Amino acid sequence: MSSLKEECGIFGIFDNKDAATLTALGLHALQHRGQEGCGIVTFDGKNFYSEKRLGLVGDNFTKDNVLKNLPGNAAIGHNRYSTSGNNLIKNVQPFFADLHVGGVSIAHNGNLCNARSLRKELVKNGSIFQTTSDTEAIVQLIAKSKRPRIIDKIIESIFKIKGGYALTILAENKLIGIRDPFGIRPLVIGKLNNSYILASETCALDIIGAKLVREVENGEVVVISDKGLESLKPFPKMKQRPCIFEYIYFSRPDSIINNVSVYEYRKKLGAELAKETHINSDLIIPVPDSGVPAAIGYAESVGKNIELGIIRNHYVGRTFIEPTQQIRSLGVKLKHNINKTLIKNKSLILIDDSLVRGTTSIKIIKMLYEAGAKEVHVRISSPPIKFPDYYGIDTPDQNDLLASKFDLDGIRKYINATSIKFLSIDGLYKAMGYQNRNSMYPQFTDHCFTGDYPIEPTDANNKDFTKNEMSLMSTNR
Ligand code: AMP
Repeated sequence: MSSLKEECGIFGIFDNKDAATLTALGLHALQHRGQEGCGIVTFDGKNFYSEKRLGLVGDNFTKDNVLKNLPGNAAIGHNRYSTSGNNLIKNVQPFFADLHVGGVSIAHNGNLCNARSLRKELVKNGSIFQTTSDTEAIVQLIAKSKRPRIIDKIIESIFKIKGGYALTILAENKLIGIRDPFGIRPLVIGKLNNSYILASETCALDIIGAKLVREVENGEVVVISDKGLESLKPFPKMKQRPCIFEYIYFSRPDSIINNVSVYEYRKKLGAELAKETHINSDLIIPVPDSGVPAAIGYAESVGKNIELGIIRNHYVGRTFIEPTQQIRSLGVKLKHNINKTLIKNKSLILIDDSLVRGTTSIKIIKMLYEAGAKEVHVRISSPPIKFPDYYGIDTPDQNDLLASKFDLDGIRKYINATSIKFLSIDGLYKAMGYQNRNSMYPQFTDHCFTGDYPIEPTDANNKDFTKNEMSLMSTNR
């Protein structure tokens, strides 16, 4: 069974004597984007150094002995999330390759839609793959390029890959940041004194006291070297379509996108949800932590406060870390407990940011009833997820998506709620500052809700791949 996968976090820093330590801190701030593995590669002007571990950054990279192995003034780092079968140390990034023009190391957040096709072609032509990760296809393409300069090899390669990607690349004396032509996956530029930084989210700048310079634009390649920052735009200009799920779920609420905090966006989603779906109840309670900002926005707009009816144990990792459905369910129980005296005999509005498989809702609603709740009205601050993702959150099996299997009443019955309502697609756009979805279309990629895919999922649509070939590669990060 395919599982829902999470994004990955990437970081890079150039010209700082504490490059490895600052990268470890940056990755720690990006830990929510992936918890199964982490890695840092540094360059000291002569050699590259690499340390990769399974598990959390804080459990691995705070130890002096690991950071001591990472000398140099430039570094890139990566947090990885993967499915169980592919949780192998060899798949942990950054990847490194020694090319005839020098070393190159690469960290990737996103998912390539044509990785399997590329891999097949590359293997046919003699490439030997060491991992099952789609990112390795990029490394192989760079290695195969006949262009003389590393930057041209990289640019030639990104013309061959399709999908959502943000990359940080460390080449000798250069830190390179790239966002795919639609800007589906995020990447920001920061500065700490004279040192340039690249990171998936601004919260990774905050942790080290760095300032946000700007976002890397869609289709932009930034090259950071002793000469400063150079911006290249190799792709034809097109309108950006960042993934709307970054705003809804992925990014940390304290991160800033487009000069607005993710927290503010989520409060507006909640306010819009209240406008569309409010009914009277005794209490408004969020699913912690994912539903909190939306619930605050919801409650504010109906003149109420939220109540903490569910308490989360912060010492349990994210529910989705566990690979099997059975353990995932257990994870939810470990993670949440009901504030019983508060909710007994009460009717509740239960707010979360999204509903995917329904695992979280089923468990929580059961616990709420067991604790004496009278009614549970579920309100979700995003539309029903009906379509799989191929650009970095990978839910390839549509059958796993509750809203694809059932209609609204079917979902309600399945999770055993008194009522369930989702934010409408136009409500989602209103909360994001537009009149509706069609005004100024396209603003985002919202394929999870609409099935409107900006990039064809080439591999997924290719019927020639055997099941084995499809499952051989992990395409998530
Ligand atoms: P589910 O329990 O399967 O319905 O998933 C929805 C819950 O998981 C919500 O609480 C979301 O905040 C959270 N969630 C949504 N998308 C993801 C994802 N890609 N990875 C991990 N958790 C997610």
